Amino acid sequence: MSYMEQKEPPRREERLNASITYGGTICGLAKKTRGCRLDDAGRSFNQGSICLLLPGMAILNSLPDSVVLLHGAIGCGSCSHSQNANVRSGGNQRFGKVKDATWLSTALNEIDVINGGETKLIEAIREADRRYRPAAIIVVAGCVPGIIGDDIDGVAAKIQPEVSAKILPVHCEGFKTRIWATAYDAVYHSIGRNLLEKPLEQTPLQPDEFLEFKENRRRQRTVNLMNVSSMGRVDEQELERLLRSLGLEVNVFPVFSHPQEMYRVTQASLSISTCPTHDDYFLKFIEEKFGVPYIIGHMPIGIENTNRWLRDVADFFELNETAEKLIDSETRELLLALEEFKPAFKGKKVFISAGEFRALATAQLMAELGFEIVGVRSFHHDEFAEGEYEKLISISSEDFVVGIADAQPFEEANLLKRIKPDVFLGHWGGNMTASKLGITSHVIYNTGLNYIGYRGVYELARRLHRQLRNPAYNSKLSKYVRLPYTSQWYESDPFKYINAEGGERAE
Ligand code: SF4
Repeated sequence: MSYMEQKEPPRREERLNASITYGGTICGLAKKTRGCRLDDAGRSFNQGSICLLLPGMAILNSLPDSVVLLHGAIGCGSCSHSQNANVRSGGNQRFGKVKDATWLSTALNEIDVINGGETKLIEAIREADRRYRPAAIIVVAGCVPGIIGDDIDGVAAKIQPEVSAKILPVHCEGFKTRIWATAYDAVYHSIGRNLLEKPLEQTPLQPDEFLEFKENRRRQRTVNLMNVSSMGRVDEQELERLLRSLGLEVNVFPVFSHPQEMYRVTQASLSISTCPTHDDYFLKFIEEKFGVPYIIGHMPIGIENTNRWLRDVADFFELNETAEKLIDSETRELLLALEEFKPAFKGKKVFISAGEFRALATAQLMAELGFEIVGVRSFHHDEFAEGEYEKLISISSEDFVVGIADAQPFEEANLLKRIKPDVFLGHWGGNMTASKLGITSHVIYNTGLNYIGYRGVYELARRLHRQLRNPAYNSKLSKYVRLPYTSQWYESDPFKYINAEGGERAE
């Protein structure tokens, strides 16, 4: 049975053998057979972390003409406040108008936990439809309905005939997984089940029709460029520029896609992932059901990765010669432009922390700029990262620390104190540890800044060069703020709380 026939997608722990626990070095990781899955891995001490709602809401809040109805406790979905700036600026950049995300909450309380929250949910759906008349009402389940057994799919089916908006149930119950990337599957799952049905003529293909259909698609030359909100508009524009240079038309999906237009994703010649952590679940589904082939491999961050990403696309359309000319002119111009920055980067030590693919691709970019990689921490690990670790091993002369952790800043603080990097690259919410230690810190993801493609390499280098010339902010900060850890912790093994059999320990 296809996953899509089930009410909710499987957890990534089961589907991809994903793991959040490893502490060791890249060479130690390489010795493990095909990756670092630690079957019984865990930490005997954990700090709090985010849940599925944050990445899930980042996509859903961006959808125009939609209401996101959070069915959960009152605090669930509060990440939307911090995401609203992206929704406003992203809408302005794409449609020329500023609009806030529209999200509501059923704010379940103790009485609802006893009596059940379905009645409240039904009333909230009716009210959202009456008040906003949206194209879609997206019912996002947090932990509480998952624990008390509210059936959001049953409620959606029951009330759908009464409301004009399409109702989408999305399962983001935070307790069910610690691999946040499951949120991408949850959102895609609901889109796949509810919003791709407009072209009714697209009946599932018979095996003998499949190859011919794919060949026709190849000639049409419209591609889906997948973005689950890990790229801002400026990065989308860089990839659109490159794809258009190959003569391709681009349909960005799913962020900022109108629910009634989403079926267009099923009509493209090819889907191109920008990050394998995000898209495999959906891309396999639309290939199986609608015959749209896909490319999922390299993240276009860094020169070599952007080259590989472009070559894969060009290969599909047999545009290899055009792509080689483009790559040649882009890289020559870029390398020339980077000359002025490189002396300041040579031999500087960098520590990188982010989502699996972004951390590994950015590490490769930093090596291309002349930095020495001294540590990488990824939020989780699965099979897609294995090739990226191999690339890093091939370009690094020294072994370095690798941690897999769903944040866990206590481990990071310990590592940073020992390793003392010159530069730290981490997420907006994740670089305060390094900043407070006085390390020059730069955000690895911000939708207003360039990171992707050739332009991303140049812009990141330019920003880092400026910061390294004047690191006063972080060094002053460290004089006036302190982290909560004791000297005893800083003297301990940073991975001492990893208690898995077969787990690694830092030397
Ligand atoms: S869904 Fe669960 S883990 Fe996530 S914010 Fe709500 S209560 Fe917390």
